Amino acid sequence: MCGIIGYIGKENPIEILINGLKNLEYRGYDSAGIALKDKDEIEVIKSVGKIVNLEEKVKCKELIPSHLGIAHTRWATHGKPTENNAHPHTVGKVTLVHNGIIENAEELREKLKKQGVTFNSETDTEVVAALINKYYENNQVEAINKALKEVRGSYALGILFQGSDCLFAVRKDSPLIVGIGENENFIASDIAAIIDYTNKYFLLEENEIVKITQDKVEITKDGKEVEKQIQTTNMEKDAKDKCGYDHYMLKEIMEEPVVLEKTFKPYLEDLDKLPDLTKYEEIHIVACGSAMYAGMIGKTLLEEYANTKVEIDVASEYRYKNVIYDRKTLVILISQSGETADTIAAMRKAKENNVETLSIVNVKTSTIARESDKQIFIEAGPEIAVATTKAYILQVGIMALLAYKTALTKGLVKENDKVLEEAEKLPRLIKEVLDRRDEYKKVAKEIYNKEDIFFIGRKIDYATSMEGSLKLKEVSYIHSEAYQAGELKHGTISLIEEGMPVFAIVTDDTIKDKTVSNIEEVKSRGAKTIIISNEKWQTEDLQVTVPKISPYFQPILIVPTLQLIAYETAKLRGCDIDKPKNLAKSVTVE
Ligand code: GLU
Repeated sequence: MCGIIGYIGKENPIEILINGLKNLEYRGYDSAGIALKDKDEIEVIKSVGKIVNLEEKVKCKELIPSHLGIAHTRWATHGKPTENNAHPHTVGKVTLVHNGIIENAEELREKLKKQGVTFNSETDTEVVAALINKYYENNQVEAINKALKEVRGSYALGILFQGSDCLFAVRKDSPLIVGIGENENFIASDIAAIIDYTNKYFLLEENEIVKITQDKVEITKDGKEVEKQIQTTNMEKDAKDKCGYDHYMLKEIMEEPVVLEKTFKPYLEDLDKLPDLTKYEEIHIVACGSAMYAGMIGKTLLEEYANTKVEIDVASEYRYKNVIYDRKTLVILISQSGETADTIAAMRKAKENNVETLSIVNVKTSTIARESDKQIFIEAGPEIAVATTKAYILQVGIMALLAYKTALTKGLVKENDKVLEEAEKLPRLIKEVLDRRDEYKKVAKEIYNKEDIFFIGRKIDYATSMEGSLKLKEVSYIHSEAYQAGELKHGTISLIEEGMPVFAIVTDDTIKDKTVSNIEEVKSRGAKTIIISNEKWQTEDLQVTVPKISPYFQPILIVPTLQLIAYETAKLRGCDIDKPKNLAKSVTVE
């Protein structure tokens, strides 16, 4: 995943680069590094772990005076998170940072070794540096071009050359933008890294090579000049502040009522702004992680209430399997960042098969937003905590509206149905749910010292359980699994032990009695059940009760309780809530 920033201008770049890296830290935090260039020298400083370690190291050093630099925060794919493997990597006259994976790195490494190149790291990145260096005589763009012809895989590269006072960049299948300032220019993995300095930028398209000085930006593709339209972002500078909350995760959960209202507004005014799914004989929903669980809720609603055939798959499987497109199909892609590598590949597969694509994304300028045929934007604003919360709720919200519209178009909605009126009430009801933090703290106290937890539910409550379980494990590191309530007894129930917490999500009246029996089954084997429901139960169990609402929107009231339970549990366990270990937010590698 990795975060990249580069600067050229009048200022000394250190502060700008470190600040930029901090805003990109959600993309990875295994190690960080910086390269500064003066007239003749390139100085590289690296450090393992989070940006603060690099910051400390930089403070204690006398650095070369500079106006040009590149920096990187790493999410390791090739080689351990050591200082040696940290970026930037230098080979000969070339120093670069990289986001992505070079698929033929080993083959290239062997070839280059035979030509006398020695390597100092285990990374795929160093191979690219060596290759560019091999072709570098005095024309930097030519060297980059020649090298990339031999490379297979994904890359966003920020490059410095000995012998040049310019900053160079190029990308393919990994994001990179160019920021335009006053007498200063930038490259960055996303706008958040440079928003404190400029709101003007343009996107680099695949294999466009950019050569940047403090007052000039030249772009070429295959030797030909390319013109760019400069865009202005309306991202607020303070969108990155925690606004007094201890963690971004908490701040972002608390924003759910506001962002839901904003996202729903145009559609509640006019449902026809949503695409018509009845034109298709089959829907495929493709996504990864939480977005995939939002898709599962969408599938359940579309099947249950709109009588629509839906297939769902994780993008990393969909992209490689034999998908049978024998009916008029729409592929719905869900991705917060719009840069999820596997989801991009799934989208391209559909397009190659002349199948229409619809994306549900947060970042309007992202690859998925730009390449899909139709888009629905959620209005989450920047989501900085690695574990998604508000964006997930909005993805579910859009799926619910799509299912409702489809049911309406097919004449399957009862006349007295008050679904849209209920949708209007949602922001207030979410707020009500969020305000009951003491209840979630109580549940967290019960579970924070356990090592294994189960979630059970049926139908839509199973889809919700999946997200509840994922949220808990990703931020608290407690092992947790979600099961269809009826399935647990086919093997897994052997793991239930005295005192083991089992969350039961029960909101679907049509199947409630069946789940009640499954709750009894685990209780009689010693489980301590926690009932998350939309009605109060006459039982001694620990309970969280949310307001009852139309089944289309019930998960939108249940999930915030699960998010807050996960948050409070992680807090009690002293976890690094916004940056859980081994994770990164925007998964731009496959
Ligand atoms: N493949 C590079 C490395 O392991 C970059 C990783 C990435 O972009 O996630 O260092």
